[in-house]
Amino acid sequence: MEKDYQKVWSKCLDLIREHVAPKSFMTWFQPIVAVGLQGSVLRIQVKSQYVYECLEEHYVDVLRMAIRSVLGANGKLEYSVVVEESQKGRPNSMIISSTQSGKMSGNGIDMKPEKGMVVENPFERKTNRLEIDPQLHASYTMENFVEGNSNCVPKASAMAIAKSPGKTAFNPFLIYGGSGLGKTHLAQAIGWEVKQNYPDKVVLYVTTNVFQRQFTEAQLKNEINNFLHFYQLIDVLILDDIQELAGKRATQNTFFHIFDELHRAGKQLILTSDRSPADLKDLEERLLTRFRWGLSVEMQVPDFETRLQIARFKARKEGFDFSDEILACICKYVDSNIRELEGAMNSLLAQTVFTHQDLTPQMVQDFLGKMIKDQKPEMTVERIEKVVCDYFNIEPEVLQSKTRKREIVQARQLAMYFCKNYTNASLAYIGKQIGRKDHTTVLYACKAVADLLETDRTFRSQVEELQQKLYCRS
Ligand code: ADP
Ligand code: MG
Repeated sequence: MEKDYQKVWSKCLDLIREHVAPKSFMTWFQPIVAVGLQGSVLRIQVKSQYVYECLEEHYVDVLRMAIRSVLGANGKLEYSVVVEESQKGRPNSMIISSTQSGKMSGNGIDMKPEKGMVVENPFERKTNRLEIDPQLHASYTMENFVEGNSNCVPKASAMAIAKSPGKTAFNPFLIYGGSGLGKTHLAQAIGWEVKQNYPDKVVLYVTTNVFQRQFTEAQLKNEINNFLHFYQLIDVLILDDIQELAGKRATQNTFFHIFDELHRAGKQLILTSDRSPADLKDLEERLLTRFRWGLSVEMQVPDFETRLQIARFKARKEGFDFSDEILACICKYVDSNIRELEGAMNSLLAQTVFTHQDLTPQMVQDFLGKMIKDQKPEMTVERIEKVVCDYFNIEPEVLQSKTRKREIVQARQLAMYFCKNYTNASLAYIGKQIGRKDHTTVLYACKAVADLLETDRTFRSQVEELQQKLYCRS
């Protein structure tokens, strides 16, 4: 026979279902089990503290509405949070009463043992610690990170964090700067140092793209709780390339909760981004606010001296037999980033092997001159937007405005067309970045451009000119 409390909860669920999105209903409400009713207090069981907090943070109004509709104005909820069975001598469930206003602080936490409750609590540490592979690259250590003017501030901050992870004001620690400047290397070097200083601490390096894939997979397999529990175990979480969170709301939301949970527990967060926090577009404000809590440092483009130091270090380490004159010549040519510097050194080494000749400054000059000319610039939505605006001599804000002027509409459509064809950005992201439109507008724009290309010669030559500008480095 169905118990009273089950009936009450089932009525509540019917009401809640009408007020929340189906996905949210499935994730947050479906797994809840009603476990008791005392007077007008219904007790429900949730799988973790995290779930409890999410419910109270985001769904308190709808919960209150449902409870009061079913149980009357005095209706209240009491949560029972499941605790791990292995925690011998501890209660295996924790009861938290929700006040009528939904605040946890009201009635406080009331610990009452209860028999037969399910068995999992990610917030309790097992004595047998989990061994998690930190996913660190063997050579991205502090010893291999050459210090110079361009990176001394990030390096000093990194060292301070590695000494006392989670205990300094640098939490989160955000390293930003252009591609190939050493952000990933330095972030991972902190991971290595922490492992050396505190072998018991759980360190994890993950790129934002991998994090997103894991999250999507967990959603598909209905394993979100496992996913969240796993991340709660980390002491030092390194999330690389957070600009990739742009436009991915569900992933942002999940990372937001993981961030808060870890930060509250005094765990260290290390983030990298290819742009400054001020330039991180399309990220939720509450995330950006949190990124400002700690320290943001810029990894700058290395000056000649730093490049030369790094080149010397690499040559010595890898056994390249390059004279200082040759190294200086390479560093003169490759002035943008360190990844390219490494690439140039490797290519030149291959040259000497093929030609059985010692390098001369002239050979370096000829070879690198050609290599640099051949390099294609990175194609991003932002770059395309800029090139198109420059070409039509319009301000980027105009492209973003609602204006229906023909030239502006055409520039907007062209920018969308190039983004769709030259980048991996999603239609939704492109639409949002260019003129706050939706993905159907982007599809329409691409079709409009393709049609015009077929029929209008002047337009075609404009597009070709734009293509050339997009492929030109400066
Ligand atoms: P980013 O993450 O900023 O794109 P990476 O950390 O991947 O750049 O660095 C690119 C390459 O340059 C890596 O091989 C890294 O080891 C090397 N590198 C960057 N900075 C330094 C440095 N200060 N000393 C030695 N190697 C460096
Ligand atoms: Mg990187």
